[in-house]
Amino acid sequence: MTLTNWAGNTAFRARDVHHPTSLDELRRLVAASPRVRALGSGHSFNDVADTTGDLVVLDRMPDEVEIDSAAAKARVPARMTYARLAPLLNERGLALANMASLPHISVAGSVATGTHGSGDKIPGLAAAVSAVDLVTADGSTLTLARGDADFPGAVVALGALGVVTSLTLDLVPAFEVRQYVREGLSTDALADFDEIMASGYSVSLFTDWRETRVWLKRTEELTSPDWYGTRPADRPRHPLPTMPADSCTLQLGVPGPWHERLPHFRPDFEPSGAGDELQSELILPREHAVKALRELYAIGERIRPVLQISEVRTIAADDLWLSPFHGRDSVGIHFTWVKDLSGVLPVLELVEETLTPFDPRPHWGKLFTRWPSCPERFRSLVETLDPAGKFGNDFTRILLGE
Ligand SMILES: Cc1cc2nc3c(=O)[nH]c(=O)nc-3n(C[C@H](O)[C@H](O)[C@H](O)COP(=O)(O)OP(=O)(O)OC[C@H]3O[C@@H](n4cnc5c(N)ncnc54)[C@H](O)[C@@H]3O)c2cc1C
Repeated sequence: MTLTNWAGNTAFRARDVHHPTSLDELRRLVAASPRVRALGSGHSFNDVADTTGDLVVLDRMPDEVEIDSAAAKARVPARMTYARLAPLLNERGLALANMASLPHISVAGSVATGTHGSGDKIPGLAAAVSAVDLVTADGSTLTLARGDADFPGAVVALGALGVVTSLTLDLVPAFEVRQYVREGLSTDALADFDEIMASGYSVSLFTDWRETRVWLKRTEELTSPDWYGTRPADRPRHPLPTMPADSCTLQLGVPGPWHERLPHFRPDFEPSGAGDELQSELILPREHAVKALRELYAIGERIRPVLQISEVRTIAADDLWLSPFHGRDSVGIHFTWVKDLSGVLPVLELVEETLTPFDPRPHWGKLFTRWPSCPERFRSLVETLDPAGKFGNDFTRILLGE
């Protein structure tokens, strides 16, 4: 059976798929293979994880998490999902600062593409990484830790430097969150974008570029009944207004642990309509948010026919070379498209064209047509660690200009 990504729009071309059960087996496999790449949980929407050689899935490697409560750190196996990791941390009174909308994604795959949640003060998931353990091209092991010169190139690295075997993550004390959905945000309220996005620990706007709802994840109760002219949702909501909300984390302001509120989707359910979508996301400097959003509302009629829903989030800057948030506080404008690539592509191109004046960067794990330039220091790091390009694929070759 052909192995595909979650959405089924990429069929992996690997000649073999391997599931090593130990570090030694993985090292031998990587050393012997002329072309190899790791696959996480396969949730990216493009061919970033593909290879024509050997695809390595680390789902049978030892999966113990080493938690150091005193240092507030955890060393996590690369293929572990956030869904599995989060309750283990919570049981020890610890938490991740943030999570993505879906907890089913692997830690290594998520940080490799710059995956993020929302929150003015919270950077992407990769910024929580303080050390990366890798198997490099000749089968040797390498640890790069925060403070090492090459570390900022090794976290959001698109699988191009080697196979990551574990990641050490910064933790915070466990905390409670209340999730509210507010409906009927008027486009006039965009003038208050900064205040709206600052009014929760994690805030998302969901819009079809006509009607807009706000998902507010707060550590405190929301008491204002007519918050920014909106009304409270009278029942739990799915990000897609027509879908049932049974796959969604608990809303209506009921307090609960961080990992049961920060993701939009529950770990024990796939989102409704799982896989029946394509996604794109463009990440802009935060200061352009309102102007850029107004441009998109103005072309909403062109976007809507191929759109399921858009989500707008804010993300704090980091210093990771390939991160879409490198050096700038950002706004992420996300598009969940219908699963019709030929219909979506011209609209995606229109969106990219519209946002070009605002210097957008693409989400590495989603669909895009305009490639950003590759930082020279990342190119040098790839040449140093993988001189024969065994971890390279079509995706990284375009990025590296090969
Ligand atoms: C329903 C859905 C919701 C999503 N929600 C969000 C969201 O809220 N926020 C967001 O930012 N993104 C989101 N995404 C995108 C998703 O987070 C990214 O595509 C992410 O990369 C998925 O992780 P993965 O483990 O599936 O990675 P994969 O797609 O399997 O791989 C991604 C990259 O990581 C590399 N990789 C994986 N494992 C390793 C390893 N061990 N060593 C070296 N390289 C490795 C692969 O080679 C590839 O280059 C969503 C996707 C879906 C399908």
